[in-house]
Amino acid sequence: MSKQHVAIHPKLSSGGTTIFTIMSKLASEHMAINLGQGFPDFECDQKLKDLVAKHLQEGKNQYVPLAGLPKLNETLSRKMEHVYGMPIDPQAQICVTAGATQALYTAIMAFVNKGDEVIIFEPAYDCYTPQIQLAGGVVKPYTMTYPDYGIDWNRVKDMVTDKTRMIIINTPHNPSGTILSNKDMQSLEDIVSGTSIVVLSDEVYEHLIYDGEDHQSIMRFPNLFEQSLAVFSFGKTLHATGWKMGYVVGPEYLIKEFKTIHQWNVFCTNSFVQFAIADYLAEAENYEYLPSFFQEKRDKMNELLADVPLTPKVAKGTYFQAYDYSDVSEMDDLTFAKYLTSEIGVAAIPMSPFYTNPPGDKVIRLCFAKKEDTIQAAAERLMRLKG
Ligand code: PMP
Ligand code: GLN
Repeated sequence: MSKQHVAIHPKLSSGGTTIFTIMSKLASEHMAINLGQGFPDFECDQKLKDLVAKHLQEGKNQYVPLAGLPKLNETLSRKMEHVYGMPIDPQAQICVTAGATQALYTAIMAFVNKGDEVIIFEPAYDCYTPQIQLAGGVVKPYTMTYPDYGIDWNRVKDMVTDKTRMIIINTPHNPSGTILSNKDMQSLEDIVSGTSIVVLSDEVYEHLIYDGEDHQSIMRFPNLFEQSLAVFSFGKTLHATGWKMGYVVGPEYLIKEFKTIHQWNVFCTNSFVQFAIADYLAEAENYEYLPSFFQEKRDKMNELLADVPLTPKVAKGTYFQAYDYSDVSEMDDLTFAKYLTSEIGVAAIPMSPFYTNPPGDKVIRLCFAKKEDTIQAAAERLMRLKG
């Protein structure tokens, strides 16, 4: 530990390290197969890498406009009209960001003021709570539990007060692998209609949806869209989580305010990658293969782990699946995830860090964005749980 020369006044009550960092570090210390932190262990498309290299070499290396490279925003606008049927103004309704995490942070900073309440659905992706706290907001968690992870919208309605400023939804949902239905979205629309609540819709897994289901994007609900922002991540869509590129979409008046904040903490993001993505996503085949590609991986995981004594909640979306381990252990989920990593050689993510008040479910999350060989090797190790 280095010597501390000045006083520190932490802005966050729990400054802790993210569970992803903790488990990935433990995985590398024990040379465990990492099914914890969500990232593909396979390469992104060579065509995409070639485009990135081409634009870098051709000197696309200076600032681009704050809202995004116009050509990229046009590609995204066409893509959204094609996928969701909603016309999106490329300049006024999109802002390209340094990944979804930054888009979420900027959106929360732009719309949540001191004392404002924000409803989130737990288990919730781990950046929401600290970001709300940094904005001075108050987190109001709705608890979802294994195996359904369902939402009773009457209870949500009862949570709304005159201080509620934002509701954050996430579909397909990390970490449970569930999705919201059309009915869920209509219930949400009924609750926020006529209020000043901003809906922040985390849709980073928009294309990772299975069994023929349609992703219920906020963009399929024109009235709801008028008071919402949707957040996307190229990391998921392009198998390139390390690029940290994403974007936010919404009605002009919300995006205008978003951009006001964005200009002071980012201004614009990486130029040559934007040129490359603009070319790559112009072709629908470069994202339309994603549901079947990942569904095959999910099914392969379920086939290979069929004899492992963990009970899956079959994922409807994302590249995560929740597993109940109560047949093999009485340990709490963090202890069990650490045990799996250090003793069995497979890293997992416990569910409790995604809750304010963990319900005590004996559930862990495994990631299936992996090569078949990786899943096969993990399955062999996990068989040791049979005792
Ligand atoms: N939201 C969810 C639900 C996520 O799972 C992730 C990361 N995988 C993010 C946001 C952050 O995405 P990014 O890496 O683009 O910041
Ligand atoms: N989103 C990834 C996951 O859920 C992790 C991202 C991170 O490490 N911050 O596993």
